[in-house]
Amino acid sequence: MIDFRSDTVTQPTMKMKEVMLNAPLGDDVFRDDPTINILEEKAAEMFGKEGALFCPSGTMTNQIAINVHTIPGDDVICDKLSHIYNYEGGGIAKNSGASVRLLEGDSGRFTADMVKGAINPDDIHLPISRLVSAENTCNKGGGVIWDSSELERIAVLCKKNGLSFHLDGARLFNALVETRETTESVGNTFDTISICLSKGLGCPIGSLLIGDAQFIHQSRRVRKVLGGGMRQAGMLAAAGIYALDYHVDRLKEDHEKAKEIADVLANCSWVKSVIPCQTNIIVAELNDNVDQTKILDKLKSKGLLTVGFGAGKIRFVTHLNISNAMVEDAKQILKTLI
Ligand SMILES: *Cc1c(COP(=O)(O)O)cnc(C)c1O
Repeated sequence: MIDFRSDTVTQPTMKMKEVMLNAPLGDDVFRDDPTINILEEKAAEMFGKEGALFCPSGTMTNQIAINVHTIPGDDVICDKLSHIYNYEGGGIAKNSGASVRLLEGDSGRFTADMVKGAINPDDIHLPISRLVSAENTCNKGGGVIWDSSELERIAVLCKKNGLSFHLDGARLFNALVETRETTESVGNTFDTISICLSKGLGCPIGSLLIGDAQFIHQSRRVRKVLGGGMRQAGMLAAAGIYALDYHVDRLKEDHEKAKEIADVLANCSWVKSVIPCQTNIIVAELNDNVDQTKILDKLKSKGLLTVGFGAGKIRFVTHLNISNAMVEDAKQILKTLI
């Protein structure tokens, strides 16, 4: 099977397993795990922030950030395609009692003007606008990259109006290897940042929440409440350190492979359109007369695993465990499918 379902399906490499096996460990709830401490310091430094917090998942890092930034009733401003709204089990309401103001962006990317229009005035009828969250790259938008100058404009607007600005950067490095922008500049734009080690970076588990010391202190408290205080988890952190050192630049290869597949899909008779592929995610819209379930089954029977991505759409994701030979095989299978 060639598994295009997600970049979360990757297996740790032998070298990654070696560093995991040899990592010095301690009880991280006591702050005694040296490997976690190194990973957190490394992440904070990369983004020019005071602290970072290692968590089991990106859902947890986002949900902690929302919880620390808001109080019940506050408005979280985000795009209608955003992961925090669509794919975190209603956690904004469930964990933090916050309300949501959705923006209608372009493939998940909104503008400073849109945010401006969504910030409520000081009126007792209205929820207090407290947090803006952006997602780069945007998953549901087809892995598209934000224009950093727009993000900077939003950051200025947030500052002026006393709102916090959070980045769901589950796939931030997929954006940065294309734009060649630095992690420091991302750190300058956002108050808080979540990055996933378990997506394209190829770790078995783990995400990092990055921000100033006070924010990370509060986040550590919330992580404990959510049941995310881990003990000898340095084995997992070791994989993260390795991935940040050796698995970032190679994301470019995933993007090249994704473009090849997107090009083939665009010429398939059963495909209506393909979102222009910028990173490692390919979203294809099926022709109206094509049944989504049947196509997924047919692809599976030929050895290609993919997922449905909303009505009439399928998603392919390239990653560490997709080889050049697999891309060639996949292209042949797609070309001859119907
Ligand atoms: C995967 C992902 C997350 C976090 O998901 P987990 O599976 O909880 O780690 C958050 N945001 C985006 C955009 C994602 O793609």
